[in-house]
Amino acid sequence: MFKSEYLNRVYSQLEKRNPQQPEFLQAVKEVLESLEPVIDANPVYEENAIIERMTEPERMITFKVTWIDDNGKVNVNRGFRVQFNSAIGPYKGGLRFHPSVTASVMKFLGFEQTFKNSLTGLPMGGGKGGSDFDPRGRSDREIMRFCQSFMTELSKHIGADTDIPAGDIGVGGREIGYLFGQYKRLRNEFTGVLTGKGLQFGGSLIRPEATGFGAVYFVEELLKTYGESIKGKTFAVSGFGNVAWGTVEKVNQLGGKVVTISGPDGYVYDKDGVNTKEKIDFMLEMRASGRDKVKDYADKFGVEYHEGKRPWEQKVDIVMPCAIQNEVDIEDAKNIVANGTKFYVEVANMPTTAEAIEYLKAHNVVIAPSKAVNAGGVAVSGLEMAQNSMRYSWSAEEVDAKLREIMAGIYKRTYEAAEKYGMKGDLIAGANIAGFEKVSEAMLSQGIAY
Ligand code: GLU
Repeated sequence: MFKSEYLNRVYSQLEKRNPQQPEFLQAVKEVLESLEPVIDANPVYEENAIIERMTEPERMITFKVTWIDDNGKVNVNRGFRVQFNSAIGPYKGGLRFHPSVTASVMKFLGFEQTFKNSLTGLPMGGGKGGSDFDPRGRSDREIMRFCQSFMTELSKHIGADTDIPAGDIGVGGREIGYLFGQYKRLRNEFTGVLTGKGLQFGGSLIRPEATGFGAVYFVEELLKTYGESIKGKTFAVSGFGNVAWGTVEKVNQLGGKVVTISGPDGYVYDKDGVNTKEKIDFMLEMRASGRDKVKDYADKFGVEYHEGKRPWEQKVDIVMPCAIQNEVDIEDAKNIVANGTKFYVEVANMPTTAEAIEYLKAHNVVIAPSKAVNAGGVAVSGLEMAQNSMRYSWSAEEVDAKLREIMAGIYKRTYEAAEKYGMKGDLIAGANIAGFEKVSEAMLSQGIAY
């Protein structure tokens, strides 16, 4: 499967050891494919078993979360924290509350986070966590009780210099507030143990917008390479959560037009663009309502609604999946190619199936990988940590300027790493290689520890 004997050996071991973990294996395989030339050129990696070590999490915590719902019923969920790699800094990464959460999903996200955090240039290791708890339709009090129970166990494993969780799907400002309150109550300690906090208690300006803004800054850099710009371009976006919201906002600011957003129920096509304050704010309202139906947008603004469909059938210049893993499959990829779309920009973590990636690549679509594109979220989390350590806070302009600079740096590192190994323009390879180099060098310097 790989040309390298070493990679074949490691990967087949990994398959044996993780038989029920398709998402994790998918994420690892994609990275190893990119790393072949690097591994070939540097025997030191094999001599030090770097790939074996990088594909095994340093620690994987699974725990029970019991909580009482509004009807007095006792519920049991499963909680996770994967502390994947601490070579370059304390574990850092979000918490996801979603029914699709499994050990495999947690491990794929933790593995990817290690590379992503490395790419930001900030000193953060890789971690991820969450629960199969489904927040949909739950009352505020239920969410609070769940978060308190979840943190009661999680608090034993995290800390401002050990592991710093944040949000992800199903975990936003409200949840982070409840989690923070419970941590403080248990420890009697006010520290920057979580990021994405409210502005009143140590949160950073621009953190809610950061993932979407960062993704669009990345697109800006990418388009420069091709002598193009965002102005006048049309975009298909999926999801309507925090990431889609920031993306839509920034595309508008830079003169582009987003014509789709989606939910689990289908997607809307708004030919005029999701471009007024009322429309953009409505994305937040939909999220707050907990209904999870994008049809509400179509009803309110009288635009096309496509039930049970995904937005990738629409003809646009740039496609940006912002919802969840594997949301773009081979059929979608065929649509994207048939529509003549030139730029495919992953914003959600691993939104594309392996088969779809192959197809897009084979048809010369420019692919920007999520590890690089969505790193702005965790980068501003890193800036939140810096502000907390200083007991200080920067203005929105300062944070935004730093974010823009970080995204330009990520693009540059990604582009140059691909070029260095003779794969100019292959941003998937570039992101994986650039992320890998820093982490593996740190591991080599620290001896055989993890
Ligand atoms: N969940 C986000 C991600 O996938 C952000 C993590 C963070 O801010 O720590 O990168």
